[in-house]
Amino acid sequence: MHEKDIKLVEDSLKKYYFDHSDLVRTPADPEKREFGYQKFNSGMNRHISLKSDRELHLLLLTQSPSDVYCSNARYLFPNLPMAEKEWQDAELIFDIDSKDLHLPCRAGHTIKKCTSCTNITNQDKCPQCNSTKFETTSVLCKDCILAAKGEVKKLISILESDLGIKENIQVYFSGNEGFHIHVTNSNYEKLDSRQRAELVDYLMFKGVIPETFGARQSNFGKSMFPDIDESGWPGRISKQIFGSKSNKTKISRQIISDGYVALKKKLEEIQSQLGVQLDPNVTIDVHRIFRLGGTINSKSGLAKTLCKDLSRFNPASDSCFIDDDEVTVLADCPVEFKLKNKKFGPYKKERVSIPKYAAIYMICKGCASLTEFITPRH
Ligand SMILES: [Zn+2]
Ligand SMILES: [Zn+2]
Repeated sequence: MHEKDIKLVEDSLKKYYFDHSDLVRTPADPEKREFGYQKFNSGMNRHISLKSDRELHLLLLTQSPSDVYCSNARYLFPNLPMAEKEWQDAELIFDIDSKDLHLPCRAGHTIKKCTSCTNITNQDKCPQCNSTKFETTSVLCKDCILAAKGEVKKLISILESDLGIKENIQVYFSGNEGFHIHVTNSNYEKLDSRQRAELVDYLMFKGVIPETFGARQSNFGKSMFPDIDESGWPGRISKQIFGSKSNKTKISRQIISDGYVALKKKLEEIQSQLGVQLDPNVTIDVHRIFRLGGTINSKSGLAKTLCKDLSRFNPASDSCFIDDDEVTVLADCPVEFKLKNKKFGPYKKERVSIPKYAAIYMICKGCASLTEFITPRH
């Protein structure tokens, strides 16, 4: 990112942290957490200990970080190197990213930057140098956010019904294109990585085969199907296959006549419909530092925001805190995007005067600059 652009973004972030310090809080037991932050065009600073909101706010205003992170784990000595920290436990965290859902609309809101000549395009081949290697980034899309919300709802429903986690589930918009789910005060905080991997497999409904439901290839005709009212996956699967109890006899007869291979295929389809599409690595890694709630995500200039009402939450307005002052930038953004109920783009290497929040969004996406030259962001 160009220095002039960094200055504009850093000043805007600083203003946000000054005006909205109430939205940026340390989690419970801050003294046991590891904090970390990044600055624009520079590496990660980790193993930081902060004891209070006051210390956190001081860091935000003096260091001008581009991104701020905090561990979900608690340690006896959070500021020592990893091997000496003495891990105590870690809250459950989940990351649901609309990029991982691979919706067909994706191509329409993806920006590709040629890695050899930095030209920006949305075509398959760089029109300037014919290269096919690109760095990609994408802008907010209503349909992708809606689909990600659907995954969040699936996750919460399984956490509640199968794991008995009734309260203490907080959903945050990630600040870019997904959601972060934090579970505090649960009985699962002592789980190690391996156990968390098992939990992830369960939530994603991985590795399901007909045998899981007593349907063996050798005695397929006699296989039993679980009841719709059964708890956990057996019940969810029955509901998905049979729809209602009254259909069960008819449909199970059909499944038996279709045979083992057909049932196996059907279960695979059900896995992608009913299993939660989440990023396993985030949940499995118990030493991670994770984006801190309320802080700005430098991939977009939007804030990681607590969603009080997930269904009505609209990231394009509810997470956009940068002001409306007019800024003139050189924009090269081949796709349209919407922020604060206003449409922007597409722009083809043109000078445009737009509200600062939209300028910063594009600068963060690497497709606008205050200067003549757009420099690629690494
Ligand atoms: Zn090129
Ligand atoms: Zn989309």
